[in-house]
Amino acid sequence: MATVLLTGGAGYIGSHTAAELLEAGYDVVVADNYSNSSPEGIRRVEQITGKKVKLYEADVRDAARMAEIFRENSIDAVIHFAGLKAVGESVQKPLMYYRNNIDTTLTLLEVMAQFGVKNVIFSSSATVYGAENPIPYSETMPRGTCSNPYGWTKAMMEQIFEDAAKADPALSVVLLRYFNPIGAHSSGMIGEDPCGIPNNLMPFITQVAVGKRDHLTIFGNDYPTPDGTCRRDYIHVTDLAAGHVKATDYVLKHKGVEIFNLGTGTPYSVSEIVEAFERVNGIRIPFEFGPRRSGDLPESYANADKAAQLLGWKAVRSLDDMCRDSWNWQKQNPNGYRTE
Ligand code: NAD
Ligand code: UDP
Repeated sequence: MATVLLTGGAGYIGSHTAAELLEAGYDVVVADNYSNSSPEGIRRVEQITGKKVKLYEADVRDAARMAEIFRENSIDAVIHFAGLKAVGESVQKPLMYYRNNIDTTLTLLEVMAQFGVKNVIFSSSATVYGAENPIPYSETMPRGTCSNPYGWTKAMMEQIFEDAAKADPALSVVLLRYFNPIGAHSSGMIGEDPCGIPNNLMPFITQVAVGKRDHLTIFGNDYPTPDGTCRRDYIHVTDLAAGHVKATDYVLKHKGVEIFNLGTGTPYSVSEIVEAFERVNGIRIPFEFGPRRSGDLPESYANADKAAQLLGWKAVRSLDDMCRDSWNWQKQNPNGYRTE
């Protein structure tokens, strides 16, 4: 079976993808600098699957270190998760975001070329559709105007992959545009482990549920949506990980660039998420309505047809599954991977 290198594989989506790839019979190598993770996630993936992961502490910007990894392993495909992802922080520290995200991508592509590795999957985001495109978003729509430096790094990196593939017809590139991943592995052993105050909705809700925060602020209830709160396409992280397995099968057989949305196609509002979490888990989430958060779009959701047609992949887990599994992870690991 093929060997897949996951850059940033110790993180939230990478660790879930490692588990699904191992279960599907792939060998997995991980390179991560632990800037937003720890090796513990991958240790737990090994416990869940009963299989070994070859784990390297490595900064993807370090070409010599990456070359060692490619020399020591026969890599068939790479999934490039490594990157900084906090939208607000990217506004405060744009250069750090451009430096880390663009440099990891350039270095990775250079080292892949050096070792003749031709297959790569990239973690992009629905944010590249920008504010101009109508919902639901389809892959044929042009990239739009991003509302923050994080989004721009994703748009720029998509362009870099497209140009690299134009110059080298042997390259096979899959750009995956994720919508809103939430949830955790059904075992509750791996999940999202944000540093500090969570920026994203579900980790904030679970931290309120576990008693770390006293209430949730819902950012805006005057949007042009059915209940006035923003609507997003939330997708269970295990469904997203399964999408990566299908994308790996695909990238190994094709050439050129293919873009896929990974979403469910069904939007839920912030209020609906809070209601579902309370109902499924029997926990009250105190909240108040606050002002809108700058840069938020009223609605974002996928047309998920292309991934169904070409990858044979569809999200199958429900919103209730997402709420239950998010809480199961948080409840079992109130401090995430930290033991204190
Ligand atoms: P994460 O922070 O949990 O994982 C990213 C990993 O990359 C971390 O383990 C971090 O330590 C590592 N990393 C960062 N810079 C690195 C570098 N220079 N060298 C080596 N490792 C480095 O985030 P995630 O939620 O798992 O996201 C994975 C990818 O998916 C990211 O590229 C992110 O932008 C993208 N994405 C995430 C979401 C989301 O909502 N979680 C949505 C769309 C796209
Ligand atoms: N949100 C919120 N309160 C929070 C965090 C998020 O109301 O503490 C809302 C946010 O305004 C957006 C939705 O929840 O409408 C999802 O936000 P998140 O940051 O999780 O993902 P995004 O869609 O911005 O990538």
